[in-house]
Parts: sequence; structure tokens; C-alpha cells
Amino acid sequence: MIEVKDLWKIYGTGAKQVEALRGVTLKIEDGEFIAILGPSGSGKTTLLNCLSGIDSPSRGEIFFDGLVFHSLSEEKKTQFRARYMGFVFQFFNLIPVLTAMENVLLPLKILRINHGEATERAKRILERIGLADKLHRFPSELSGGEQQRVAIARALVHNPKIVWADEPTGNLDSETGEGVIKVLEEMRFEHRTTLVVVTHDERIAKRADRVLTIRDGKIVKEERQS
Ligand code: ADP
Ligand code: MG
Repeated sequence: MIEVKDLWKIYGTGAKQVEALRGVTLKIEDGEFIAILGPSGSGKTTLLNCLSGIDSPSRGEIFFDGLVFHSLSEEKKTQFRARYMGFVFQFFNLIPVLTAMENVLLPLKILRINHGEATERAKRILERIGLADKLHRFPSELSGGEQQRVAIARALVHNPKIVWADEPTGNLDSETGEGVIKVLEEMRFEHRTTLVVVTHDERIAKRADRVLTIRDGKIVKEERQS
């Protein structure tokens, strides 16, 4: 379970100060699918970045199964992230000089999984995701939807406990976006992955267990869906 207590993030100083998060408190159960909605600039990306340890909150507490995450060193946060978390970004963030296969291998390399097993796993997930014939293509040789599927394969290949996704269908046409959502859902059912997705996409929000609405750095609405 993830527990967040009174999380604040303040960027800048003096007159230029921006309160991007203003006291976010929240609990996320294992295996839960949470959608986060909110207007542009409301703090959604900041919240994901703070929860995943990419950015440090100015104040507040974050616990993963009781582990005091917010006060870990950067190195320990990085290790924790590599082991337990996966990321899907709006702009895919694939490494352009690496092939689809090599991009997906990265998280396994970081975890020092031996090459044979890593290759096997990367290949299997890319096949599952419908890219069996494109393993050795570079991102520039793939469509937007294909790139996003590679990014999803990379986020999931090490079976993380938590996947953070920041507008994963934001730059895709609706049909391709639908495919991306399906893949995320399938993986979630198979591995009981906790899924936290920032989105404007109604189709994603409809399928979540819980929808949180954030406005001006605060959660202003919370709906549980059956
Ligand atoms: P969202 O993802 O909901 O669009 P963000 O979390 O990106 O919103 O941004 C929340 C607020 O914090 C915005 O006002 C934004 O301009 C500000 N902000 C985000 N990142 C930074 C930064 N690195 N430095 C200063 N201000 C930032
Ligand atoms: Mg954002």
C-alpha cells in the first residue's frame, strides 16, 4: 500500500514561488487502478514525480508498505524505483539510438538480470504487445502507437509493483490509444500491478477503480467506481 500524507511541492523562491502541490493526502491499495484528472497546470505531473521519487517534495510523507520513502537517499530511491516501479510518459521517452528490443532490455540491465534471461523476457513482452516483427527497429522507424507500446513493454518488463503513467494516450489517435489501454489492463490483471494514470482520456477514467480530481495542487474530488 502507498500512503501519502500532507504532500507539498513548492518550486522557486520569493515572488516567483509556485505551490504546485498543496497538501495532498491519499492512500493507494495494492493492485488498485487510479486515474488522476485535472486541468493543465494543476499539479498532476508534479504529484507523479514526487510519488516516484524523480522529484523531492518540499514537505510531507510517502510510505510504501510502511517503508519511509521520502527520507531515503537519492541512491536508495533510485534502487527502489528500478526494482518496484515502471513509467510510461506522454512523449514515450524512448532512447533514439537503441532499438525496441534494447530499450526494453534497459530496466533488466539495471537490475543486473543475466543477458540470456533478459533477452528472453524482453522478446516475450514485445511479442505479446504485437511487435514481434519490429524488435530491431529504432524508435524513428516506428509509429507513435508502436513507440508507446515499446514504452509500455519497457515499463512492465521487470514486473514492477507500481506503474505510473502520465497521459499515456495523450499523443495517440483514439484507436491506437485504445490498444495501449488494453495492454495496460491485461498486464494489470495478470500481475496485480498497481496502476496510477494521469489522463484526460474518458475511456481510461471509466475503467479505473477510483478517479481523483486535482485542482490547484489539491485533491478536490474522489470517486470510487464499481
Ligand atoms: P500538470 O501536470 O497538472 O499540467 P504540473 O505538475 O506540470 O501540472 O505543474 C503544476 C504547477 O507547477 C504549474 O504551475 C507549473 O508551471 C509548475 N511547475 C512544474 N514544474 C516546475 C518547475 N520545474 N519549476 C517551476 N515551476 C514548475
Ligand atoms: Mg503534466
